[in-house]
Amino acid sequence: MIVNLITLLGITALTLTTKRTFTQDELLGVVEPTEHQDFTLVPESLASHSTHYLRTEVVEAFVKMAQDAKKEGIHLEVVSAFRSFHRQKTIWNTKFARFKGSDLQRAQKILEYSSMPGTSRHHWGTDFDLNSVNPAFFDTPQGIQIYIWLENNAHKYGFFQPYKEFHKHRPTGYREEKWHWSYAPLADKMLKEYKLRVKHEDITGFVGSYLAEELNVIENYVLCIENHNINPKEL
Ligand SMILES: [Zn+2]
Repeated sequence: MIVNLITLLGITALTLTTKRTFTQDELLGVVEPTEHQDFTLVPESLASHSTHYLRTEVVEAFVKMAQDAKKEGIHLEVVSAFRSFHRQKTIWNTKFARFKGSDLQRAQKILEYSSMPGTSRHHWGTDFDLNSVNPAFFDTPQGIQIYIWLENNAHKYGFFQPYKEFHKHRPTGYREEKWHWSYAPLADKMLKEYKLRVKHEDITGFVGSYLAEELNVIENYVLCIENHNINPKEL
């Protein structure tokens, strides 16, 4: 009986140490990356400034991808990486004050490209924006070349584009963002936990947050992303 109990406890301990879990704060962006052991700075040579943080394994995969891209004459540059709940709140509240219309209309307008605080994949340290967040850049010869390279190669390093054009399997959510890339092996786990643990009442603390439930932001935005075929075991 005692032996069985110890075995049982041993297995439980082993399961706990090997299974990756994230705190509710990590899912909602209440994180200070400078003090969090899992975060690392993106090298300045591959970023628009020296204070872009991502999770360490994401930085490692990105550096590998950017180095290989460079060999083919493609310069990849991170222009936005981890963003905290607090930072997203500033972005949201500023836009909310600037846009016109009812609260619902303002929120819907912001949600074309920006997330409600607490619902952004940028909170996770798995996602980043490359080169430019202006859609017009990706219509320039340079932007087209970069995007084609990413479409053909990013998956080999674990990255996918979560916000593509709307289609029948992604009828709602953010508009197409050719600049936004996500590290599937980690982001998939965080999304799974988010789906299980975060409720609309957890998305609070900013102007218009009461609309989270009415707009069904978890279903219509957080979960409404493009599928991918990346298998972490094959990376
Ligand atoms: Zn983004």
